[in-house]
Amino acid sequence: MEIIDAHVHSLPRGTMDGGETDVRLETVLSGLRARNITRAIFVPINDAWWQPVDEMNDYMVEVVRKHPSIVGFIDIDISKAHLYGGIERLEKDIEMRYSSGLRGIKVHLQNLGVNADDWRLLPVYRLAGELNIPVMLHCYPGSGPGLLENSSPLYIEKMIRAFRNTHFIISHLGGIPYVDLLPHLYHDNVRFETSGVLPTLKRYLGTERLSHLLNDIGYERIFFGSDFPSCDLDTQISILKEIVPREQWNKVFSGNILEFGREFGWWVETADCENTGTIL
Ligand SMILES: [Zn+2]
Repeated sequence: MEIIDAHVHSLPRGTMDGGETDVRLETVLSGLRARNITRAIFVPINDAWWQPVDEMNDYMVEVVRKHPSIVGFIDIDISKAHLYGGIERLEKDIEMRYSSGLRGIKVHLQNLGVNADDWRLLPVYRLAGELNIPVMLHCYPGSGPGLLENSSPLYIEKMIRAFRNTHFIISHLGGIPYVDLLPHLYHDNVRFETSGVLPTLKRYLGTERLSHLLNDIGYERIFFGSDFPSCDLDTQISILKEIVPREQWNKVFSGNILEFGREFGWWVETADCENTGTIL
């Protein structure tokens, strides 16, 4: 069975999590290879204080050029969007990164410190729909400068309904505070990925409730994601195998994301990855 990871980090700065985690490219790639992960989505963190956004996007463009097995998402900086011409510059930057090969946009609501319906994000959602690339929304309270409210599905719901021609991937299943609201986000343009949160949810909800939740979301809407190297990859693979019925593993670990990604031209050069055993 092929495993594709929908949520991986590598930054040109080389570390994240306050310096605790080594996110240099070679470290990350060798970690993925060691688990036979064949393809991955690399996402930025929208934290301009830790990792300047232009440098991040330049780096991501290089990474995807050298590694066709990696899909790279665009980093955004909304801190200057209120200035004259600011929205236009934000849009132009996204278009430029799209034309350089990046194929998705990361919106990290906690690191931006805003709710999903912040006015500066509206053009981002609209443009993603026009370019036909998905938006990955961080949905897990915790990291600063954001507060509890920033990840709330109450705001996400409005956006996924209003921008119905834009595809969204909800990351981290809402964490403990919002996991019960996830059913309100079940719309045709929405998928969910499991990164980072499975050990916590298993501890908090127990195996049975977690399994009900994933069953309720629908196995066809779920992608395996890890948040590697911030989070332990092996634990998350084993929890997901424990929770998801075996007959659904293919879909959740790779089938769903391959089908979803076809719409956006992901991995066109690595179509026979699984058969040839080629890795990253
Ligand atoms: Zn992450």
